[in-house]
Amino acid sequence: MDILNKVLPDSETKPDISHGDGDRERFAHYVQKDKITESAVTGNPVIALCGKVWVPNRDPKKFPVCPECKKVYEEMTK
Ligand SMILES: [Zn+2]
Repeated sequence: MDILNKVLPDSETKPDISHGDGDRERFAHYVQKDKITESAVTGNPVIALCGKVWVPNRDPKKFPVCPECKKVYEEMTK
């Protein structure tokens, strides 16, 4: 019993958190469809509504929508 109590707290002190710019990669950003098509051909990065520049990747549907992009998009469609 004593041994278990000593082992468990140690493993709990390492939360699985990503740092820095990586966090933004976990969102699906809004980009003009034309630009995505272009990027797929040229491999050039695109600029999202929130200002993020990146190369769109395969499966944005598995990420939550970027809150900044969503805000800009809603402003645009008012
Ligand atoms: Zn965004």
